Amino acid sequence: MNNSILVTRSSMPEYQEYIDEIKEIWDSHWLTNMGVKHKELQAELVSYLKVPSIDLLTNGHMALELSLQALHLPKGSEVITTPFTFASTTHAIVRNGLEPVFCDINPVDFTMDVTKIEALITDKTSAIMPVHVYGNICDVEEIQRIADKYGLKVIYDAAHTFGVEYKKKGIGSFGDVSCFSFHATKVFNTIEGGAACFADQDFGLDLYRLKNFGIRGPETVDGVGANAKMNEFCAAMGLCNLRHVDEEIAKRKAVVERYMEHLDGVDGLQMNPIQKDVKPNYAYFPVIFEENVFGATRNEVMEALAEQGIGSRKYFYPLTNTFDCFHGKYDPSQTPVALHLSKRVLTLPLYADLSLEDVNRICKIILNCKR
Ligand SMILES: *Cc1c(COP(=O)(O)O)cnc(C)c1O
Repeated sequence: MNNSILVTRSSMPEYQEYIDEIKEIWDSHWLTNMGVKHKELQAELVSYLKVPSIDLLTNGHMALELSLQALHLPKGSEVITTPFTFASTTHAIVRNGLEPVFCDINPVDFTMDVTKIEALITDKTSAIMPVHVYGNICDVEEIQRIADKYGLKVIYDAAHTFGVEYKKKGIGSFGDVSCFSFHATKVFNTIEGGAACFADQDFGLDLYRLKNFGIRGPETVDGVGANAKMNEFCAAMGLCNLRHVDEEIAKRKAVVERYMEHLDGVDGLQMNPIQKDVKPNYAYFPVIFEENVFGATRNEVMEALAEQGIGSRKYFYPLTNTFDCFHGKYDPSQTPVALHLSKRVLTLPLYADLSLEDVNRICKIILNCKR
């Protein structure tokens, strides 16, 4: 179908811009292992993201997984996290031999409900791993207060918050570590890629070694690391995309504003509010469909859109604490707000080049479902 619309569309530079960017790689035959492009992108991102230090990795998941490893949390200790996220967050905890403890989310911006964290802390708790979900930032001040009070590490899944600032500070400068994803579907992409932001240089050195097999020196391997180095072609894509990302975010803003013109105030629909003191990035446009008021369920709306060739996603459904791989180990009724929202949320198409006419069309289909 010609007029079909996907839920997202990767940002790309002009073909020639990328070709020019990779010329140097061709000439040098240096394809990976922290080459020129890697270093250049690293330097540009430290400044763009307003963070103390950054390391680049193959993807956002490895940033999370290796950051947790580099924090050296006691094996089997508990990490308080959210089930209203992508599989990666929970998997990074479990794959490190740590125990996820699920905290509910608040019903306004869907980030971790900070009033419910302290009740979950035990003598086995070692860290808090919240998610800045959809680009909405967590209550970073309250989370830090709790972490300081109990001596816990804080690692943010910042996969959705590229370029977001809070009180003029880069969102990646909060907590012990913040991990971004530069996956093709994210606001900023390096095709596949990710990064960890941190201030502690000892942590940074550990992470740097862990992404390169735990190699300390030519004859010393003292960490059980992985291979998670960003290659030069991905870094080159990042350098190109970074030149246009502000423009892309501005276009996303126009799309979101058009959605709001149509959908804000409609009974039975809930959207995330603009947060105070935050420079947003318009990463996603989630809508909650309260079927008792709106008259149609989330699934019915999704089908109505699909019939017209329009993609949407049940993002995040199911909750990670219901995943088959955990064999019923966790009880999703302990996170009732997340459970309720996961059954009603639909994220609508949102990308820089989505036309406002298409947004009008999408909203018309949605409003036609109202009964
Ligand atoms: C995309 C994403 C990740 C994983 O990032 P990749 O770069 O795809 O590995 C982790 N957490 C969240 C919330 C994400 O959306």
